[in-house]
Amino acid sequence: MSMEGRTCVITGSARGIGRGIAEHLGSDGANVVVNYRSSEDAAHETVDAVESAGGNAVAAQADVANREAVERLRDVCHEAFGPADVLVNNAGITADHQFTEMTREEWDRVMDVNLGGMFNCTQEFYDDIWNAEEGRLINISSVVGKQGNFGQANYAAAKSGMFGFTRTIALELAQGGSTANCVAPGFTRTDMVESVPDKVLDRIIAGIPLERLAEVEDIAAVVRFLASEDSSYVTGEVIDVNGGMDL
Ligand code: NAP
Repeated sequence: MSMEGRTCVITGSARGIGRGIAEHLGSDGANVVVNYRSSEDAAHETVDAVESAGGNAVAAQADVANREAVERLRDVCHEAFGPADVLVNNAGITADHQFTEMTREEWDRVMDVNLGGMFNCTQEFYDDIWNAEEGRLINISSVVGKQGNFGQANYAAAKSGMFGFTRTIALELAQGGSTANCVAPGFTRTDMVESVPDKVLDRIIAGIPLERLAEVEDIAAVVRFLASEDSSYVTGEVIDVNGGMDL
């Protein structure tokens, strides 16, 4: 799959799933904008990895929850590579507490980054995606958005909110020939699950038919397909990548 000449903006791609997506698209020859909020060194490592894999890359600091910062992210993209063809809304956070203990601040923080960041980035890059030949919007949701998860009412609400948003934008983009899809990963081996105690992880794995956590590559491979021209007729979908957790 060649992505040569295609420009891809991936939010939160200094590490974790975002980094895996950057490396996959880079190895297909894409121009990649590696967005980070605080992991500057890791962002530069990702840029090096994308370039070694055969792509072009630039690092761009921006807190996706901040609209002015996202405007600057768009400017960096335009200056480095021109308009974006692909936007991957990957940046996400958790702030877990059982609901009765959850503070309004934890609720707002998760909404501001996971949904507000998606809103800001999609609006700033909307014209790019609309005007692109085969533009692509790809939102990284979660199995938690479908199933819920103890202590994650805020995160589950944000992640299922991505489903309705994606289907609506898919309808609005369709006339221009561009697509919007969601990927809903299961539990994936990144820093985000690092803090989960081993006992809890063992219980999670016991409930996964494929009997393992996802690796970053499992998720990135599906995003790579959705970013490519091979997915031209797929839009408004939620693609589960969860080892069979729904079975
Ligand atoms: P991670 O290892 O914790 O990485 C999160 C990334 O998001 C980091 O690169 C971080 O950037 C970035 N980020 C956070 N807040 C940001 C903000 N305000 N502005 C810009 N970037 C921001 O998480 P991950 O596991 O790779 O998760 C990536 C996505 O997949 C998230 O949306 C997550 O909800 C989703 N997901 C993860 C799992 C899982 O089990 N790991 C499962 C399902 C879905 P900095 O380091 O620069 O702050």
